Amino acid sequence: MYTAPPPLGAASARATNGQLTPRVYKVWKGNNIFFLQGRIIFGPDVRSLFLTVFLIVTPVLIFCALVARKLMADFNKHLGVCIMVFVVFITLVDLTLLIFTCGRDPGIVPRNAHPPEPEGEEGLTGVGTGQNPQFRLPRTRDVQVNGMIVKIKYCDTCMLYRPPRCSHCSICNNCVENFDHHCPWVGQCIGLRNYRFFFMFIVSTTLLCVYVFGFCWVYIIKIRNSEDISIWRAMIKTPASIVLIIYTALPFIFVAGLSLFHTYLISTNQTTYENFRYQYDRRANPYNRGICANFKEKFFTCVPPSRNDFRARVELPQAFPDSTVDGGFISPNMGRAGEELEIGRKATWSEAGSGLNMEDLENGLGNGRLETKEDGSGDADHD
Ligand SMILES: [Zn+2]
Ligand SMILES: [Zn+2]
Repeated sequence: MYTAPPPLGAASARATNGQLTPRVYKVWKGNNIFFLQGRIIFGPDVRSLFLTVFLIVTPVLIFCALVARKLMADFNKHLGVCIMVFVVFITLVDLTLLIFTCGRDPGIVPRNAHPPEPEGEEGLTGVGTGQNPQFRLPRTRDVQVNGMIVKIKYCDTCMLYRPPRCSHCSICNNCVENFDHHCPWVGQCIGLRNYRFFFMFIVSTTLLCVYVFGFCWVYIIKIRNSEDISIWRAMIKTPASIVLIIYTALPFIFVAGLSLFHTYLISTNQTTYENFRYQYDRRANPYNRGICANFKEKFFTCVPPSRNDFRARVELPQAFPDSTVDGGFISPNMGRAGEELEIGRKATWSEAGSGLNMEDLENGLGNGRLETKEDGSGDADHD
């Protein structure tokens, strides 16, 4: 759970004047938009969600009013009702999955208020003078995942070492676990906690397109058969069907292609980000554990709880370590001095701060084995 700034030392939820501190969502540093007093979190481009809902609901309403209603009269009573009920059912499922995708924490890693504190001085050389030598944190670290070396990077904005597969979304301004991509259609990052809903959303949208497209043709053929006219004349008699056929064909190509692409990504345990950036076909993928295990990991495991409690009160620090007050630790890109400090530096996850621990990281890897390494070249470079 997020304990807003800073995580070091004891903390209090009351300011010095005795007033309760604001809730976390009120002082959130990411670009997210919150609804219902922090109960629902959207991305910054939440307005695109309304456009997406409009693009889904409008053709369904036209289909129900001008096609399905006529088919109810043409088919026998039960079959006709089923056509109408099923399209409404798919639409409701589709919209529910859309809300589940865009209205929840996608897997945001809570920020640190300060750069992580080195555990020991092993391998470090102080470049400062006096009692507060300055330590420069290494830009990247190597960790071992399922027997392979993976490079993790330090995030300057969130002041933490990103867990493997985590990346910083520049639109939302958050580090997101298992970052897949930022979807402009749902206005939210797709990551560890909403990927399965996103995938089911694009599959159900594909199904909705096929359903509307198919029954529009059924209606046209019904007209042709009943009036014994050509297919072209039958189409002219139902312009709504022509519009819906064209309207559903275009998004079908998009969402069906996307569904197939993500089916491939799931079967090989890749994210879109990794597929575009790292090209696992040219190197071994440490997360790939076989098609069945990969699908099981994505769909038949519990969604991890959010690391953030947006409605919690911001906790104020009661004590700062001397090193932080004096600027003893500096982040990797704060100057070039102390470059030699990285040599032989041992990576330890407890330095990563932000409430992450070894157990959390292993869970994030789908029970993949993770160890820290002193040195070595990374197989994957997660930005
Ligand atoms: Zn970040
Ligand atoms: Zn994002």
